Amino acid sequence: MNGIIYKLKCKSTDDFYIGSTKNLNKALQNIKCLVKQGRNTPLFDFIRNNGGMDNFEKSIILYCDNDKLDNFKQQQINLLNPSLNIRIPLQTRREYNIKNREKHNAYKRGRKIECIYCNKIYARDSINRHYKTKKHLINKAKHEIKIIVV
Ligand SMILES: [Zn+2]
Repeated sequence: MNGIIYKLKCKSTDDFYIGSTKNLNKALQNIKCLVKQGRNTPLFDFIRNNGGMDNFEKSIILYCDNDKLDNFKQQQINLLNPSLNIRIPLQTRREYNIKNREKHNAYKRGRKIECIYCNKIYARDSINRHYKTKKHLINKAKHEIKIIVV
């Protein structure tokens, strides 16, 4: 019974997050660390932009068996509908931002487009070729892995 479902609630808004862990102190420490490191996920971004972990109330919702953590977490998410557990829509928004930024850069630099995965600028004519290169695909995959890990 050392599984814990916990809640992180922002003190200045109604936004909250439901997490699951076997070690609450370690989980909170880990989040704090990743927020500081500048890791980009919807949750970390939100915490960073809203006063950091000090501005969040931590509370335990329930204890459960370790092997049921995922079930209970999902159950509580369905029940409480936490605003900060939403991943897919924000990820879509991120993709949108990336595309938008590319468009903006293209506009700004005339016929040049920045590949945000590789941090390099390419002529519009050659960017499609660049998108197929191994180097680009590796950079892109790395970037996507970073987004998915919470
Ligand atoms: Zn690239």
